[in-house]
Amino acid sequence: MTSKQEQSPDTAAVPDTVDSYVGGEWVSVESDQGQPVVNPATNETLADVSFADADDVDEAVQTASEAFEEWSRTPPVERVQYIFDLKQELEDRQEDIAQALTREHGKTLNEARGEIRRGIENVEVAAGIPNMMREGSGNVQDVATGMDEHAIRQPLGVFTAVTPFNFPAMIPLWFLPYAVATGNTFILKPSEKVPLSSQIIFEAVDAVDFPDGVVNLVNGGVDTVTALLEHDDIEGISFVGSTPVAQHIYQTAAEHGKRVQAQGGAKNYAVVSEDAELEEAVPNVIGSVYGNAGQRCLANDVVVGVGDSYEPLREEVLDAVDDLTVGNGLEEDTDVGPLITGESAERVKGMIEDAIDEGADLVVDGRDFEHPDYPDGNFLGPTLLENVTTDMDITQTEIFGPVMALTKAEDIDEAIEMVNSTQYGNASSLYTENGAEARKYRYEVDAGNIGINVGVCAPMGFFHFGGRKDSFFGDLHAQGEDAINFYTDKTITIERYYSH
Ligand code: NAD
Repeated sequence: MTSKQEQSPDTAAVPDTVDSYVGGEWVSVESDQGQPVVNPATNETLADVSFADADDVDEAVQTASEAFEEWSRTPPVERVQYIFDLKQELEDRQEDIAQALTREHGKTLNEARGEIRRGIENVEVAAGIPNMMREGSGNVQDVATGMDEHAIRQPLGVFTAVTPFNFPAMIPLWFLPYAVATGNTFILKPSEKVPLSSQIIFEAVDAVDFPDGVVNLVNGGVDTVTALLEHDDIEGISFVGSTPVAQHIYQTAAEHGKRVQAQGGAKNYAVVSEDAELEEAVPNVIGSVYGNAGQRCLANDVVVGVGDSYEPLREEVLDAVDDLTVGNGLEEDTDVGPLITGESAERVKGMIEDAIDEGADLVVDGRDFEHPDYPDGNFLGPTLLENVTTDMDITQTEIFGPVMALTKAEDIDEAIEMVNSTQYGNASSLYTENGAEARKYRYEVDAGNIGINVGVCAPMGFFHFGGRKDSFFGDLHAQGEDAINFYTDKTITIERYYSH
């Protein structure tokens, strides 16, 4: 085994090389395709990532296929001993991952630390796999006289996950622990924009000393994903990213006979009722819109004030926006970090301009924000648009930047109609102390994740992560029991013995 830390002793916390990890070894990929990994706060290059080609992918798949035979026959109680160790190795590296994550992504250190905890939570849940695999199996005695029937869960082979830039540590851990604990072998392909967190996650994997080939990492872009999608020996693929790519992955994986779960983009609304506790609601609303610089699939970037709640909500939101500090995520007082790339910042500015052209009022303008210490960073100041309507692009298209679109509704029915007006169905939050209203909301809102007085309604690892309409393609979601169903198949045995 080789270790990343041995390779770069001076930069243990932040890897300056990006390698694959295949068959229990770090492998450096030579390729004419690749790109730099850039710190969005400074635009300094942190490392270069070379893209794995079809041959590199094939090697990883072959290695994982060979490892499957023995790993799938390893008792679940033994497999989870590796998962327990993985939890500890990740815990020991939390701060290293956070440092790398903030540098490659831009989010604040606190956001990075929170994200890592949510990732480790999935490792903890997967440690209960022996029990979870028992659920959904079953026995019925005497389905006919003298005949019994059993269902058992079996792992299937090699699985892969292709993940986005916005949660570099958490999202790979939505998949890796469940795939492996259920007895499959696994290949991660992280976002090429943020591959450094995965380098440290795989230092942890390496330290656990999984049998060679059980857990693998390849880096790359579109061609690497195509090679994974089209490889005959990959059983299933998990994807998280934008909707057009999710649709492409869903379709192509299905054409190649694979299991697929593809989580796409979002357009989420928050509704603040007349019965909301504004003091509690406003910090939640602000965190949901501006946290992670708005680059969250659960960001509720359209905020609807119902009836008389609108004016006080507007006032308190404006005060809170005024208090936000934009800066380098490494500095502890930063609330809003930079956007991932300069192009992202330009795209968001373009959306703000289009909204103004369509009739929205720009109340807080962050477009010209420049950080005195980081003039090259991809910063955008918190922005707030008012008087938006559901026929504007700003209320229908994911912004993925620190921009709130604030509007009002006469009553809860009109608010729900607005929430349901988009093509997406990832998440929505209602702020209220009125139980009947909350109940109506969770019945009538067509979204997979609902928050009541919770601004970022990310389900715990033992529940599946919802998503509907153009936010999800597939049927079995990530996390929880859905993950177990995705990574296993049930074999039915019907038994009859004539000697009894
Ligand atoms: P993206 O779609 O650009 O990239 C995601 C992954 O797909 C990356 O690993 C990338 O290498 C790969 N990829 C990109 N284009 C591809 C192509 N043409 N063919 C094959 N692979 C391709 O997404 P992103 O910009 O990294 O992430 C942001 C998006 O992810 C947002 O839309 C956000 O809402 C969404 N997201 C959704 C969830 C969810 O749970 N629904 C969670 C996080 C992020």
